[in-house]
Amino acid sequence: MRRTKIIATIGPSSSDKQVIKAMVKAGADALRINFAHGDHRLFKRIVEWIRQIEEETDQYIPIIGDIQTKVIRVKNRENIEILKGRRYIISKDEGIIVDEDGFYSNIDVGDHILLDDGLIEMEVEKIDEKKQRIYVTSLVNGVLKPNKKIIIKGKTGGGELLTDKDIADLKFSIENQLEYIAISMVRGKEDLKRVRGIVEDLGGEPWIISKIEHPQSLERLDEITKESDGLLVARGDLGQHIDLEEIPVVQKEIIETGSRYGKITILATQLLESMINSETPTRAEVTDLFNAVEEGVDAIMLTGETAIGRYPVETIRWADRILSFVDRYLEGRRAIHYKPDFIETLYDKFARGVIYISNILEGRIVGFTKGGNTARRLSRYKPNKPLWIATTRQYIARKINILYGIKPMYTENHEDIMKILIKTKDKLLEQGILHHGDIVIYVIGMRKETTDVMRFEII
Ligand code: PGA
Ligand code: MN
Repeated sequence: MRRTKIIATIGPSSSDKQVIKAMVKAGADALRINFAHGDHRLFKRIVEWIRQIEEETDQYIPIIGDIQTKVIRVKNRENIEILKGRRYIISKDEGIIVDEDGFYSNIDVGDHILLDDGLIEMEVEKIDEKKQRIYVTSLVNGVLKPNKKIIIKGKTGGGELLTDKDIADLKFSIENQLEYIAISMVRGKEDLKRVRGIVEDLGGEPWIISKIEHPQSLERLDEITKESDGLLVARGDLGQHIDLEEIPVVQKEIIETGSRYGKITILATQLLESMINSETPTRAEVTDLFNAVEEGVDAIMLTGETAIGRYPVETIRWADRILSFVDRYLEGRRAIHYKPDFIETLYDKFARGVIYISNILEGRIVGFTKGGNTARRLSRYKPNKPLWIATTRQYIARKINILYGIKPMYTENHEDIMKILIKTKDKLLEQGILHHGDIVIYVIGMRKETTDVMRFEII
């Protein structure tokens, strides 16, 4: 059974109930709505569809609300022809129009300017004394269309990260009980504290994922990781801010840091990129997925492939096929995902012990989690077999479905946790997932936010 999870981004190619349902059936474990594109009316409909699909397919599908955060766009109304070697002016009133003050205060001679997701690159030659006119030379030929994004390579916009639109999107996410919030362009712990503050004021309890997209978040990766529930390697924007050849190293560092702190790690962008136009992936893409799982990711997130590609469902089918193979291959070859520099509480160590024991006994873990902590602790060590984790809230069942190896089992509330576990085990027996003679290892946290009880049974 596949343990690495698949997240699909909903976009124009997949904003349709039947397509989403087909993606879920093909193996999508979680879905992302991207607030950068679309409006609340559309998102509302998508959320409703997903909740219907859950019922129809008997699954728990978490939704990630992706908050765009501040983006600087050019204000020109018409196309500008761009010629290699030609000089252009960036200012508030002539040439390429940019009216954000933060842009001008951040810029230096020698910086590279990227427009339209890197299609156009320019170098800063001169800046006037008042820092109001930026003279740049284009390094490429192209056409600059209206409203395109503009960034300074390696630099972030200063000031407040969240715009009014982002706050409205956070509100939408909480009102619609999304399980996850992803924050684009996180720069440091202050950004996360702000988000947490807003989310708490709104009465929400989503897990928060920091999208690591530029050098500043790399410099402050440890503090960002500590404040986050998970990290997302956003290779799309990262690839603009750092040199492409550095991507594999940076990816490794982000996944290692997430693993060290026991946080969820997700790899995104250009995973099966060729499938935007093709029904099969390339050899290199298959290899990329294999390496990501070996590095220790919980989940991979498809972006353009399912948002704007021609084959959203086939892409999920391929991701499922590749990851199922990798997980099978790693069984027995990777006993446990652990390094001595992992930061662990006593309960984490307990969970690690449980995974070791289950490996030795070839036992099946059936656990209980109230708020998701026990599920996260066990999942962290990348078990060789799926873990069935019972919980009494649908919201938590959804949340934990992103975690590596975790199969959520929603059950009604009972006084006695042991009773919940026995019922869960009986259900798994009935479904033919467990068999008589199996060793079942029950794991629970008896007190709030702990994982501290283990019990064996030969069923
Ligand atoms: P995006 O993030 O799709 O929201 O830009 C992913 C990435 O940058 O890789
Ligand atoms: Mn991005």
